[in-house]
Order: sequence, then structure tokens, then C-alpha cells
Amino acid sequence: MNAPFYPPAIETAEIQWRDGVPESVRFGDVYFSRDDGLAEARYVFIQHNRLPERFARVPDGGTFVIAETGFGTGLNFLAAWAAWQAHRPTNGSVLHFVSVERYPLNRDDLERALMLWPELSPLADALLAQYPLPVRGTHRLVFDHGRVRLTLHFGDVIEAWEQLVFQADAWFLDGFAPACNPDMWLDEAMAHLRAHSRPGTTLATFTAAGRVRRALIEQGFAAQKVPGYGRKREMIAGEWPNDGNVANTDPASIDTRVAGHAVAIVGAGIAGCLLARNLAERGIKVHLLDAGDGPGAGASGNRQGATYVKLGVDYNAQTALALAALQHAYRAYAPYAGRHWHPTGLIQLASSQGEADRQRRFLERNHYPLALLSPVGAERASALSGLPCPSGGLWFPRSGWVNPPALCLELIDHPNIRTRFGFSVSRTMPCNGKWHLSSTAQADVVVDKLVVAAGHRTPSVVPLASGVRLKAIRGQVTYLPTERNRAPAVVLCGERYLNPAADGIAVTGATFDLHSDNPEVTPESTRENLDGLAAMLPGAFPEQDGALPGGRVSFRCTTHDYQPVAGPLKDAGGQTVDGVFLLTGLGSKGLSYAPLLAEALADMMTNQPVALPLPLLKRVDPARLSRAPVGPSSDSTLVTDGR
Ligand code: SAM
Repeated sequence: MNAPFYPPAIETAEIQWRDGVPESVRFGDVYFSRDDGLAEARYVFIQHNRLPERFARVPDGGTFVIAETGFGTGLNFLAAWAAWQAHRPTNGSVLHFVSVERYPLNRDDLERALMLWPELSPLADALLAQYPLPVRGTHRLVFDHGRVRLTLHFGDVIEAWEQLVFQADAWFLDGFAPACNPDMWLDEAMAHLRAHSRPGTTLATFTAAGRVRRALIEQGFAAQKVPGYGRKREMIAGEWPNDGNVANTDPASIDTRVAGHAVAIVGAGIAGCLLARNLAERGIKVHLLDAGDGPGAGASGNRQGATYVKLGVDYNAQTALALAALQHAYRAYAPYAGRHWHPTGLIQLASSQGEADRQRRFLERNHYPLALLSPVGAERASALSGLPCPSGGLWFPRSGWVNPPALCLELIDHPNIRTRFGFSVSRTMPCNGKWHLSSTAQADVVVDKLVVAAGHRTPSVVPLASGVRLKAIRGQVTYLPTERNRAPAVVLCGERYLNPAADGIAVTGATFDLHSDNPEVTPESTRENLDGLAAMLPGAFPEQDGALPGGRVSFRCTTHDYQPVAGPLKDAGGQTVDGVFLLTGLGSKGLSYAPLLAEALADMMTNQPVALPLPLLKRVDPARLSRAPVGPSSDSTLVTDGR
């Protein structure tokens, strides 16, 4: 039996293995044919959606979207990926696979099932390396440097089709047999298929059930019975007809309008650099502009930063966003492990009675997989960190710290990215459907789309007369030399944070100064950090006699609701400003939020399936920034006149 679970955990599949083939105990049906599951997947789904010929026609910069009901073992996904490799071998185009699973297989069962197909083993290994923990919601997995993307929603099919933003070019309808799995084939589910299809979208399913065919026809699909695979007499294949109103019905070319377009990103911090790389790998030419003399000149310039989010006691959209971002960050940073990413683990210390109570309620009300987080006592926290911890807390074994400037440098090293440093934007003007960016010292940059990811400088770049509401919050970090101080083996977070040492220095911080714009390191802020650290880890640090350790100041960019921002810019009336996007407001959680938000924004900008489901998209909607503030605005609210 599965362990008891509450959100965000999701119940996993109970598998019975018969003759080496996985069967669902709950549904009493097999995941794939006993004869040859891979051959059946190729016949039913690949062949009857005409994928080889349609893949071959996807142009550079184009996208092909497959949507599937029932991810199961991932066999169909891997079969589609293998076909993509065989029939669309050039770069710059994306196969996007969207799938839903109510009862995910656990990793061991998935591995055992996929071992049946040695020819798929490199792809299976890649899937296993990123396969999400059993956590509800939408997971985005990126393979082959972005040439293959998987949006995997762990939850019910109706919820998935209500919340996910995508248009399919082909459907794989693969629930268990309708008699064992009626929910998958409900009319309601069928109606969603139509909403996520476009003229020319095809579908295929192993079942030949008359009820399914009638439901598809009722939704407007031309669905017919065709010979089935092996011993199955029949199956259903179909198409959403072209009614003649759409000029270009070749789904493979629908997204070509984004190919060849140039995008400017203002701000080469972690968010801007991640987005630049993401778009570049989708075949888009990116101009990355920054007033500084290199990437990470602002808040992303600290030599260490932790992947840290505070998960709420209530499992609401805000918590779900933080959780999705954290899991995505682990996946996105994995290729940089040991270089710019150090997954040492992180302890969120219960360093006050209030925080201890909060953590207790959090653990009572929610169920997270232990591989994601677990409670630890003071003794274990001390053993893990190597420093005497006065309290326990929450242990995040997959978290760690990033070297943001080094990561930024590597991210922007791509032939599709052109950098312009020392480019301080003085004017942003629309002209003939393009955006012209001027600076005092360099030639103008003219682009089709503009992303402002300039942290607290965002308001001065955004072309909006009414301005945008953002707060700049000063943060000073302190660099503790390890010759005089001890450093933990894992990241410790509480009233302050302290990172493991790198190159003889452990970074601690940061101050949170709402009312200071002083860019210099001050002794007051250094003492504040040291006192905070001494209070969090009493006895771990000697009195600092002599010269105070050095540090660095930067300004976080925060919204009034402390939630990040990613999406198309909207004016005060809620109207979208054509071709302008925001990626900002990440506060002190940029390293955790930026990978997922950059991915989702790149999806929106290229009309690809979006990594965030609708409730989370709403949470990051830039419209919040353009609305008039409620009540008197604080001193630190930056509102520019625009131009
Ligand atoms: N495509 C899979 C593969 O390649 O291995 C096989 C899919 S299996 C036949 C059907 C899947 O649908 C099962 O994994 C099952 O848990 C899932 N499922 C059943 N009812 C569901 C529902 N209401 N919402 C989402 N998934 C569901």
C-alpha cells in the first residue's frame, strides 16, 4: 500500500508485474501491449498521427506539440522522442510533449518498465535523471538542450486540460481501456481535446470503442476505425478538420513567425541570462543589454546564493509556485553541478519559537516526499552542517548554492546571444512594429520583442507612462574568511543565511534595508550581519576583533505582494503592451524562481506550451504592477514616468 498522503504529495501507481509487463492494480489493465508495447506505440500513435512525415516538415524554429492522456511508463513519450530524432535531426525546432498522470509510477517501477526497451535506453536514462518526485502539479523537463520538452502534469486529466496552456498538433489518447478507466474518456475530457486542438490536429487511440468514436465525432473530429495492432482488430484515428478559414493549416509551420525574430533582454542578471540562453536554444537571436561591464553586475553578482524558498503552511497557489520553481531549479542547475552549482543540501532552521510553530503546522498539514524535505532535530542539523545548531529545522537535501556570476558567464556563451555591456537604456520607443532602444554611448538596438529583466532598474526601462510598481530593497552580504571562521558543510538559513565556504570565503547575509539606497558596504550593515549570525548560531563564531570582513551591496527588486513577475507587460487599463515582457520582482529568491520563470516566459514568447498552469500564471501576471497602489505608496516604491 502507498503511504498516507496529503497535498502536495500525490498517490503513486501500484504495479503488479506479470511476465515482466507492468499492470495497474487499481485499474486492472496493462500499461502497454503484452506482445510488443513499443511496436504497438509506433503503430498506433506514431504512424496514425503521420508523425514521420509531419516531423520532417517542421521548419527551423518551429514546434510540434503532442498531447497525451496517461503518461504511465513514458513509453509513448520515448517512442515519439526517438521518432523526432530520426525524422527531424536538425537544430532550432522543438518537440513538445504534454502529458497528464493521475497516479505516477514511482521511479523504480518506471526504471524497470523502461528497461524492457534497450534501444530506447539513452532516452530512458535522460527521463529517469529528471523524473519528478511524486508531487502534484505541472513539471517541465527539458532534454537535448531544449530540442525536446516535456510538460508532465501530475493530477487528474480534467484539471490538466483546464489549467494547461497549449494547442496540440497530435493527440495520443492512451488511458486504460474505457471499461476500466471511464474517467479518462468522459465527454468532459473529450470537450477539452477540442479546445486544445487546431485545424489539422490529428488523433489516435488503441481503443475501438464505439462510445469513444461517437464522442470524438460529437466534438467535431473526423474519427474512423482503422485496423488495430497485432491481435486487436480495430483502433480509432482521426483529425480536426480544416474548415477552410485558416490559411495555413500545416501545424508544423504555425510557430515559424517567431523564428528569425530578434529579442532584446535588458538586464544580464541570472533571470536575463537564463532567458537569453533559453531563447537562443529555441533558435532566436538575442541581444542582451546591461549597463554594467559584464553579467551579474547587480543582485546576481554575489559570489554565492542559495536555492531557498519558504513554503507556506497553506498549500495554495503561492506555495505551489515556490515548490514548482524549486524543483525546476534543481533540474535546471544539474548540468552545472560541481562547477557553478553545489547541491550540498540546505537547512531552514527553526531559529525562533514562531518559526518552530510554523514548521510544526506546515508538517502537520502537508505531506512532502522525504527526498524533497524532512524535519531534522538540532543534533542532526549539527551533524549535517558541522556547526553547533541550537535548533533543528527543515532539511532540503537537494538544495544548495550557486555561483551566479560564473553561471551567468557560461549561460551567455551561445552563438545566438549578442551582448552589449555598458549599455544604459536611456529611451525605449515603439516604431513600425519594432522596439528601438537607445543609450547615450552606443548605437540603437532595434528588435521585435523586448524583455525587461533589469531588477530594480526595471521601472526606468519600461515604456509605460503610468510606470510600474516595484520596490528596491538594499541587501548587504558579508564575506567571512575561513581562516578566522568556521563554515558549514550545508547551507544554513534562519534569521540570516550562511553558505559553505568556497575559495576560502563563506557568504553570509543579507541585510534587508527598505529605506536605504547606499551602494557602499557599511560597517553598520556588516555588524548587523555578524550579530544576526551570532544569534542564529550562538558560540559558532568568535568575536570579530580588528578589521571587519568585507562584503558587497546590491538591490533586490520586489513587488508589493512579494511574488515574482513574468509575462507580457500590461498598462494600467490591463491592456497588453505589444511586444514587451517583464521578468523581475524576484526579491531575494531569484536563484530559485528564475529558471522556471525564464522557461515559462520563453514559452509565452514563442507560442509554445507554457510551463506554468493557469493558477500559477495568474500569480506572476505583470498586470499587478500597473494597477494603482491601494493606499499611500511607500518611500521605496519606484514609479517612473516612462517616456
Ligand atoms: N502512455 C502510457 C505509456 O506510454 O506507458 C500508458 C498509459 S496507461 C494505458 C493509462 C494511464 O492513465 C495510467 O498511467 C493511469 O494512471 C492514467 N490515468 C487513469 N485515469 C486518469 C485520470 N483520470 N487522469 C489522469 N491520468 C489517468
